Amino acid sequence: MAKRDYYEVLGVAKNASDEDLKKAYRKLAMKYHPDRNPGDAAAEEKFKEAKEAYEMLSDAEKRGAYDRFGHAGVDPNSGGFGGNGQGFGAGGFADAFGDIFGDIFGGAAGGRSGGGGRSNVYRGSDLRYAMEITLEQAAQGFTTEIKVPSWESCSPCEGTGAKPGTQAETCKTCGGQGQVRMQQGFFSIQQTCPTCHGTGKTIPNPCGTCDGVGRVRRQKTLEVKIPAGIDDGMRIRSTGNGEPGLNGGPPGDLYVEVSVKPHRVFQREGDDLHCEVPVSFARAALGGSVDVPTLNGKASFELPEGTQTGKTFRLKGKGIKNVRTSIAGDLYCHVMLETPVKLSDKQKKLLAEFDASLEEGGERHSPQSKTWTDKVRDFFN
Ligand SMILES: [Zn+2]
Ligand SMILES: [Zn+2]
Repeated sequence: MAKRDYYEVLGVAKNASDEDLKKAYRKLAMKYHPDRNPGDAAAEEKFKEAKEAYEMLSDAEKRGAYDRFGHAGVDPNSGGFGGNGQGFGAGGFADAFGDIFGDIFGGAAGGRSGGGGRSNVYRGSDLRYAMEITLEQAAQGFTTEIKVPSWESCSPCEGTGAKPGTQAETCKTCGGQGQVRMQQGFFSIQQTCPTCHGTGKTIPNPCGTCDGVGRVRRQKTLEVKIPAGIDDGMRIRSTGNGEPGLNGGPPGDLYVEVSVKPHRVFQREGDDLHCEVPVSFARAALGGSVDVPTLNGKASFELPEGTQTGKTFRLKGKGIKNVRTSIAGDLYCHVMLETPVKLSDKQKKLLAEFDASLEEGGERHSPQSKTWTDKVRDFFN
């Protein structure tokens, strides 16, 4: 069966940029990925076709050969060791997806690091640490200690991964080089050794403590500084405190993800705070000073005579300091008029008298009712 043109497979022009290739491949891979199309052989074929086209064209050397000689220049199946046995096993998958799918699949695949040409060097996965804090802590900032996993050299095997008393052996496939030369058409290409994954060694009797990995998981205590003004959902990165890399790759990062518990008094909106302030109707009618809590002590504001319910008062700078600029937001106090309850007979009598006196005064005492009466009248007419 004639092989399709790599550019045609990816649906890009001959002069497509690396970025175009990546985009085109990403689109196809997302569509045809076996994980998304379980049991669909046609999709798997398409996925393999796109993967091969991308692998060839994203490599400048191979692309050059392909442009000049076509498939004969780069045929991946004419290689030195019996086809390229890349299935969708862990190794092949991570290898193909490390660099461009890292950001979609999160830390799971691990990103391929630069440097080292085509050796199997992987950056370690990122770690997440969820931290729940109070609004007060978020406003003031604080320093705390957290326990996170760390890895240290396995002591029974002294980090070699080989069962004590045994030794790692030099890899027979690559002779300890970690790299193998592979013939592809007219070219000889160097690749990471598929047997030892670039380490140059194989372990016939793995250590029982670390399963041949050479390191074990421990815990370490890390000091974290939570900056004042941090908001719900923000995260702090601690560079290099994630999982260690593979084959000498750099470690991943640790992300502390902050969630802020709801507060009993304040609701936060950005750098501003909001709170409801219950006020008796006598106080609202007469006016006066009202005390309110803030995150750092008490404050007060002047209630003017005849304040209506729902009226908002802004206390400048009594909100939360912005995490970047340190400029404080404001505190908004929403006045909520409180209807008195459980009145004594005497109080009820006084209120009734008071209400009668309001009626004598007419609509001028009740601006809201007047507006409302007007609206209702308009509605019916
Ligand atoms: Zn090897
Ligand atoms: Zn060990």
